[in-house]
Amino acid sequence: MVDVHRSIDGFRSTLDSLRREGATVGFVPTMGYLHEGHASLMRAARRDCDVAVASIFVNPLQFAASEDLSTYPRDIDRDLDVCSGAGISHVLHPSVEEMYPGGPVLTSVSVSKITERFEGASRPTHFSGVATVVAKLFSIVGPCRSYFGEKDFQQLAVVRRMARDLSMPVEVIGCPIVREPDGLAMSSRNVYLDAAQRDAAPVLYRSLQRAASLASTGVLTSSDAPSVNEVESVVADAIAAVPEAELDYVALVDALTLEPAHAVGGSQRLLVAARFGSTRLLDNIAVG
Ligand code: AMP
Repeated sequence: MVDVHRSIDGFRSTLDSLRREGATVGFVPTMGYLHEGHASLMRAARRDCDVAVASIFVNPLQFAASEDLSTYPRDIDRDLDVCSGAGISHVLHPSVEEMYPGGPVLTSVSVSKITERFEGASRPTHFSGVATVVAKLFSIVGPCRSYFGEKDFQQLAVVRRMARDLSMPVEVIGCPIVREPDGLAMSSRNVYLDAAQRDAAPVLYRSLQRAASLASTGVLTSSDAPSVNEVESVVADAIAAVPEAELDYVALVDALTLEPAHAVGGSQRLLVAARFGSTRLLDNIAVG
């Protein structure tokens, strides 16, 4: 059974008293409409910590006016079943008014540099909305380990950097991407895809795999290492061949700094975003 907290104070004092009794806390922030990707973070939190808790809150701050805040899919009853099945004991599920009483916040957290490219370029206000709500949630939850998916690779880097820069008492842990059987990364937004778009969407992971394998073959045989452009083109060309898909960006980056790579080699990540109709899908893969 999951305890659902609508009040920030009640949730905070529950966690304070669990910690006073000596329990370690694992925390999974989500926007709900939970799937196996979210459940994997919850199971990791439960495995590593004495108590696993989650938040379900569709955060208006991270949506631009033109985005899908009002239509974002929601199903709290099913979400609580997923939480319960994955070992979560307490869920914070606040109203917008509870989180942001009196309207928009006057204080926001912005992380520079690593937010400027990729998702930040396509969605200029997105990461300050994410950083602000995650900072607020970390302040509510208190000392903990917090679990984020590598699916949103840039978000993970931003949260990690924010926690470090602001000395937050939180260890940020990245977890692998969970995929559908055909390779499509699970996402709450996949329900927006029509049948043709859904059939086309696995092109993202298929092409990422081909690009990563080109990069590693080149590096292994060392003589003819492919260029960054050749690696990125594997993905760009595959997406260009699919009428349902329109590339937003593909970029080979340093896995820690997210700076664009100048050559293939070392610990890197290949990031992609593409539109299928009005739905933007993200994916990425480790390279090297
Ligand atoms: P969201 O509810 O979309 O804000 O996501 C909440 C958390 O779940 C974030 O840390 C996401 O990166 C993570 N997540 C979403 N989809 C997946 C997935 N397919 N595999 C692993 N983690 C995921």
